[in-house]
Amino acid sequence: MTHHTVAELLSNTKTPIEIEIKGWVRTFRANRFIALNDGSTIHNIQCVINFEDTDPKLLKRITTGASVSIQGTLVKSQGKGQSLEVQVNAIQVLGDSDPDTYPIQPKKHSFEFLRENAHLRTRTNTFSAVMRLRSSLSFAVHSYFNSNGFYYMHTPIITGSDAEGAGEMFRVSTLDQKKPPLTEQGEVDHSKNFFGKDTNLTVSGQLEAETYAMSLGKVYTFGPTFRAENSNTSRHLSEFWMIEPEVAFMDLAGNMDLAESFMKYVINYILEHNPDDIKFLEDRLLQEEKNKPQAERSEMTLSDKLRFVVDNNFKRVSYTEAIDILRQSKPNKKKKFKYLINEWGADLQSEHERFLVEKHFKCPVILFDYPANIKAFYMRLNEDGKTVRAMDILFPGIGEIVGGSQREERLEVLKEKMAALHIPEEELWWYLDLRKYGTAVHSGFGLGFERLVMFATGMSNIRDVIPYPRTPQNAEF
Ligand code: ATP
Ligand code: MN
Repeated sequence: MTHHTVAELLSNTKTPIEIEIKGWVRTFRANRFIALNDGSTIHNIQCVINFEDTDPKLLKRITTGASVSIQGTLVKSQGKGQSLEVQVNAIQVLGDSDPDTYPIQPKKHSFEFLRENAHLRTRTNTFSAVMRLRSSLSFAVHSYFNSNGFYYMHTPIITGSDAEGAGEMFRVSTLDQKKPPLTEQGEVDHSKNFFGKDTNLTVSGQLEAETYAMSLGKVYTFGPTFRAENSNTSRHLSEFWMIEPEVAFMDLAGNMDLAESFMKYVINYILEHNPDDIKFLEDRLLQEEKNKPQAERSEMTLSDKLRFVVDNNFKRVSYTEAIDILRQSKPNKKKKFKYLINEWGADLQSEHERFLVEKHFKCPVILFDYPANIKAFYMRLNEDGKTVRAMDILFPGIGEIVGGSQREERLEVLKEKMAALHIPEEELWWYLDLRKYGTAVHSGFGLGFERLVMFATGMSNIRDVIPYPRTPQNAEF
């Protein structure tokens, strides 16, 4: 008898058949009904025990959280609520649980409590659904790029350049922390450090991805990135996964097309492949909405939101137009924004991004041509001399989900930009080489994978869409 998963059993059309199944007990009711889950699907399978024939000592060991192996017969269910069930012929408890201390009781737990028990939280419906969707989305990412002629590139996690300009970095060092070697000037002597220089955890794989785009044509990275910003928000992690495609001979318009087609593909992929998990999370959100005041309730269900991205064109709006809209907007005039928009050049905060997406355009928005001085040094300067070919994609409920640009391909312009920002040329000599030898228009973007998972699952805190979140003051597990 081969061992089956719950997912396999529930999609079985032939009954009765003899089966063996292993999983964890979710609940055990009336000394008779086990709801068994093995992670293969959101659904439990009901296993019915004939308790008169079962040793009472064994019955006592069937508790929430225990792992069991069951041999039995898969039959059409006699009861309501499920179409198939297992009539148990034999059961073994593989691993006992302890009903007094097991944290995941069959009741509603707060997400805060479950974060403290992140090693067990995927034994709940919500977290198993989220993590199955996360897995499915990563597969869709690779599938999209693979079928569109991209090469998957692994960029380094330890970086020697701190010029990437995306915020604070974590230092990687093997020097004695109490007594580091010092230079004559009294600074820490990094020539004695492991790599012979100061190194950090990467904030982005983009610069290295550019080198491969300028030889392999179309590449992407998908790996962990690290930011030591002390921002304790529901949208920021200190360690997160980023997807970064980079393409030679592609301009900003092409970059927008790529990002839009990519986002649609991955969302559509889960709509097709994970309907049960989406349905479960959608119902969960509907319950949550019921507890909110009428005015704050979302008019759209989770699958409405997902389908909305797949079915609608992303609205493309220049930064300048967006500033005009924001300046004229009600929350700006009534001073409802925390940061008021007064003039061109202001950096947009997530409250502005969400206003544009959720209230004004009511669809995903691509903002482009941002002021040069609020964006990174490598972005292509426009003919107006004050804006760059940057683009951000804004999603409802999230704000910025993608940030990208056409890259500056002109050596002289890039050098001037670096000089103005005091970025030493010696540090990025290899990056400048790309502009010296066979330079070309090229573009790419970065998508924070957890922001995508948040959108796809409707979860409102980024700590709940990554297995073990790293945030300021927190690196448990
Ligand atoms: P934000 O303005 O939201 O802080 P950013 O402008 O610093 O983001 P980029 O440097 O453009 O972000 O990074 C590209 C993408 O990576 C962002 O669009 C976002 O999806 C994601 N991202 C950035 N910072 C974080 C973070 N701390 N945690 C999770 N995802 C992030
Ligand atoms: Mn950005």
